[in-house]
Amino acid sequence: MEFVTGLKCVFCGATYSTRVTYTCPACGITGMLDVQYDYPAIAKHLTRRSLANRKEFSHWRYRELLPIRKDAVLPSLPVGWTPVVQTDSLARHLGLRTLYLKDDGRNPTGSLKDRASAVGVVKAREKQHKIIACASTGNAASSLAGMAASMGLKSVIFVPERAPEPKVTQLLIFGATVLRVRGGYEDAFQLSQSSCERWGWYNRNSAINPYLVEGKKTVGLEICEQLDWQVPDWVAVSVGDGCTIAGVWKAFHEMKTLGLIEGTPKMLGVQAAGAAPVTTAFSTGEPLKPIEPHTIADSIAVGVPRNWKKAVLAVQASGGTMINVEDEEILEAMRCTGRLTGIFAEPAAATAIAGVRRAVEEGIIGRKASVLAVVTGNGLKDIRSAQAAVTKPFDIAPDGTGLEDILKDQGFVS
Ligand SMILES: *Cc1c(COP(=O)(O)O)cnc(C)c1O
Repeated sequence: MEFVTGLKCVFCGATYSTRVTYTCPACGITGMLDVQYDYPAIAKHLTRRSLANRKEFSHWRYRELLPIRKDAVLPSLPVGWTPVVQTDSLARHLGLRTLYLKDDGRNPTGSLKDRASAVGVVKAREKQHKIIACASTGNAASSLAGMAASMGLKSVIFVPERAPEPKVTQLLIFGATVLRVRGGYEDAFQLSQSSCERWGWYNRNSAINPYLVEGKKTVGLEICEQLDWQVPDWVAVSVGDGCTIAGVWKAFHEMKTLGLIEGTPKMLGVQAAGAAPVTTAFSTGEPLKPIEPHTIADSIAVGVPRNWKKAVLAVQASGGTMINVEDEEILEAMRCTGRLTGIFAEPAAATAIAGVRRAVEEGIIGRKASVLAVVTGNGLKDIRSAQAAVTKPFDIAPDGTGLEDILKDQGFVS
């Protein structure tokens, strides 16, 4: 916490010391707080050269920009420093010259949420809690369970009824106490809130906990360094609650403030058409109206996003925009990404790529622009949706009857 100066409400602008735990005391539960830092002091420590000498290849390499104590106990599971892959074939397919994917599906539990959960468990330990809880559509839950296991903390996790089975299985393997709520994410969220209050558990909901977005921003810090301080013109991020895109933008803003990059990218926020209240708030300029979400991209099926304001402010500040894509476009993005890059994106992650495609088609992103899409989660986490995107294998007998016909059909033999 060396460089943290306080917490600022994104609604009323009031500032508080870090003794405030979750949301703005004046605005109540909706008053999201943003962590403030002493950037001039950080700039003395965090330089291109000092970073080049650091041997810590995880997201903790940016510890000055994280709200953790100098002597903090860190989870032993390594988080972050996921690869940035340049992909010419997918770029061509989308009608672009330059496209990068940041493959955050390669985090320890398979999603970008590990970055937030890692900070969450460090804070829980610092505040001397032994139990940490959250509600999640799946990834925040499995990452919290994994990180808690790595730190020796207990986790209590509320998931909606339709959370994909692989994610729920991850939770159980990591030893979490899993409460599957007969209802949607909003029901799970409400129950986790009241349970944290009642039993005094540390609350890892990014909807109210100001520290988690700080973990999520490390993906943006890494992008700057991994691209040798030449940021792309656009960065595409899928949006559910809004915390991720707000974090990614904060990273670019901080890197610019520190003088480490010259310009900042425009942010492309992408929602599934059936769960797009943040896009609506962005384009109408009105406060968020809750909706009933319907999309195969379960990780971004959020009807009442709590970080919508941070997300809208981030996209506006970047000079970018928000768009929606249909489920069919998401499935197509899963197929072409897999086929052309070897990266298996879960639906919510492929949403960002589908968004890039649509933005290029609509002329929002120019064909000569450089673009990076964040692949926020691994496709193995949600097989049922992936199965909807692909065909079936060819079933054949062990003696190979019919094999030649299939190969002829596929154009392998003439
Ligand atoms: C959580 C999540 C997102 C969206 O992040 P928000 O902070 O909810 O906007 C996108 N993709 C995946 C895979 C996620 O798990």
